[in-house]
Amino acid sequence: CHDVNGLDREILRKISEHPCYDKNAQHKFGRIHLAVAPKCNIQCNYCDRKFDCVNESRPGVTSEVLNPQEALEKTRQVLKDHPFIKVVAVAGPGDPLANDETFETLELIKNEFPNVTLCLSTNGLALPEKMDELLRVGVSTLTVTLNAIDPEIQAQIVDHISYKGKSYTGVEAAEILIANQLEGIEKAVEAGMVLKVNTVLIPEINKDHIIEVAKKIREMGVFIMNVMPLICQAKFVDMEPPTNEVRKELQDSCEPYVQQMRHCRQCRSDAYGLIGKDLSQMSEERRNVIKM
Ligand code: SF4
Ligand code: SF4
Repeated sequence: CHDVNGLDREILRKISEHPCYDKNAQHKFGRIHLAVAPKCNIQCNYCDRKFDCVNESRPGVTSEVLNPQEALEKTRQVLKDHPFIKVVAVAGPGDPLANDETFETLELIKNEFPNVTLCLSTNGLALPEKMDELLRVGVSTLTVTLNAIDPEIQAQIVDHISYKGKSYTGVEAAEILIANQLEGIEKAVEAGMVLKVNTVLIPEINKDHIIEVAKKIREMGVFIMNVMPLICQAKFVDMEPPTNEVRKELQDSCEPYVQQMRHCRQCRSDAYGLIGKDLSQMSEERRNVIKM
């Protein structure tokens, strides 16, 4: 039963209930992030690892890491109190694919809540090798952070990667990372997942290149792109973040190629509730008022 753009009805339902994939869903449906993934397999120059993965989050206090059983218990409680939450995701605090606990957690959730949408965000380095596991546990919406498709540009953004027991730097690291990100995206689309690409806009490095990323991901069948503003910290602490105008202009120029997400709030890796109205940050008393 294929429908719009070749997506089947079940996937269309999931998109229409995902607050990040459909802007009309953001006020009606929520998501819960389970912070079960502390380790990371790369080092981005804009990340100082004191905070949640900046590829999906804004810096704050690092989310408290849960083990899979604790994550299941939290999910039980939150879904019982807030049935408008339809998406369960792992987004950090490190890279979800660099932590076995991610898969253990998602499997527990799938067995107990077969109707929720399972979602994950990653830097993509381990995506090709983890694809079978992602499909086994039933992830259907996937975000990959893709900041450049040109290794010379990517080499200015990532300091080093750790891949199959070896550490790589410079253009060599960038080449491996980009190849795996693109191979992973291709495999995920082929397998029927709905893809979001996050791209961090770093004015001094990739501003004029992002349009090439948009063209490439259109070809690959990515559903939506989220151009996120650089948060200046770590090695990039002295850089200027993009203005809202520059980001909007860039989103407008990418829109003809791939739908743009413009309502991202760079949530914490333990956020839950509606986007921008995180219950994880609220007092117990206020949470009870919002139960619905
Ligand atoms: Fe930090 Fe995320 Fe980059 Fe890892 S992938 S270094 S956690 S921003
Ligand atoms: Fe959605 Fe952005 Fe929050 Fe991720 S960080 S859950 S894409 S609003």
